[in-house]
Amino acid sequence: MEINLPKGTHDVILDEARAYEKIETLFKAVADLYGFSELRTPIIEATELFTRSVGDSSDIVRKEMYTFKDKGDRSITLRPELTAGVMRSIVNNKLFATQDLPIKVYYLGPAFRYERPQLGRYRQFNQFGVESVGITSPLSDAEVIMMGYAALKMLGFGHITLKINTLGDDESRKAYRVALKEYFGKHLDKMCPDCHERYESNPLRILDCKVPEDIEIVKKAPKISDYLTEAAQESFEFVLATLANFDIKYEVDESLVRGLDYYSHVVFEFHYTTEAGVSLGALGAGGHYDNLVSELGGPALSGVGLAFGIERIYGVLENDKLLQDVKEETDFYVMPLGDNALLDAYMIAQALRGAGYRTEVCFENKGFKTLFKRAEHKGSKYAVIIGDTEMQAEQVTLKNLKTQEQITVKYADLIDKADQLFAVEDDHDHH
Ligand code: ATP
Ligand code: MG
Repeated sequence: MEINLPKGTHDVILDEARAYEKIETLFKAVADLYGFSELRTPIIEATELFTRSVGDSSDIVRKEMYTFKDKGDRSITLRPELTAGVMRSIVNNKLFATQDLPIKVYYLGPAFRYERPQLGRYRQFNQFGVESVGITSPLSDAEVIMMGYAALKMLGFGHITLKINTLGDDESRKAYRVALKEYFGKHLDKMCPDCHERYESNPLRILDCKVPEDIEIVKKAPKISDYLTEAAQESFEFVLATLANFDIKYEVDESLVRGLDYYSHVVFEFHYTTEAGVSLGALGAGGHYDNLVSELGGPALSGVGLAFGIERIYGVLENDKLLQDVKEETDFYVMPLGDNALLDAYMIAQALRGAGYRTEVCFENKGFKTLFKRAEHKGSKYAVIIGDTEMQAEQVTLKNLKTQEQITVKYADLIDKADQLFAVEDDHDHH
């Protein structure tokens, strides 16, 4: 009986897996360039970690978490995002006491949200993200945004829209919340049930509502910019000025509030529209937080982070054909001609692999046509051909599959020959 995938999940296969690998490798390299180190946390965490950090009023905690009791009756949740686990780890391991500040880490791995599956929206998806913890300077905020921007540029995106907003400090938000309650209080009877709940728990969340009638009401709501303290205003302007200084274009979007409860000050999203006009939603998003580390029992350290969705990035890159060179490639395809040659071919393949060459070998007695087809499918640069004549002379026929040139090489000289050929090739690549 064939078993299907759980709804909202997907396999990543062959060329697609190679593309993921490429995207992830690039993210890691850029993070490394900016001084971030990897941190890996478990996929399962205590449920309380997310209710305390992501927040009770967020959609994630209210309806998207995979939560279950384990056999020891503990409430466990599959992480819906990775920031909370990273903060827990920083607190548990007291990194703030042993590392210089800011603590700069990156992460990569699957996240789980019980959402309605649609284009660019899965129930298991992969996030790459960074966190920089322990410095209050807006330069730290700007650094994370610039790192994200640089990574997208290096992936091949021509134009990126950076939407940015500030949620102010605690004092700004307190004043803004009062203004929002007053305004939405007058319209609540026309608004969706979710907004009724948001009105009680966190009226800022209403700005994020996707119901068309509510969006109209939200449009006329008070703006955060009118409630910012001077310090909050200054900090935001500093981030914007820094971005402008480095030629990073942004759009201030006052309706941007983000789906997680822990943000304050600057929040942002990266968007991209494909040539056909399709947007998969935000490619990545993040912001500054002040109370997250202390909420989890650590000292009062501010931080800033961002997370990219690998599936969405792959989706739009693939759509606009911005991904190149992801086909399978091997250096050698070893071809036994006749049953007698099977073992020698196998031995030669092992030797090539031992010397660091990507090598595939045929296990069956096949005709030339099939063997060359397979070599082509494998993206091989050279064919190593071994038949009876070759075996008797302890040599192989080595054929360059691009130029069709062929030479014979003694078994004993094959690795040296390979080193020579590939040294020349590396040389060409560099010019
Ligand atoms: P959205 O508004 O699209 O639901 P979000 O605000 O919930 O996004 P974040 O929690 O900020 O998203 O997650 C960071 C990134 O992870 C998003 O920008 C997106 O690229 C990706 N992401 C979030 N949820 C999903 C999902 N269900 N499937 C695929 N990618 C996702
Ligand atoms: Mg979401």
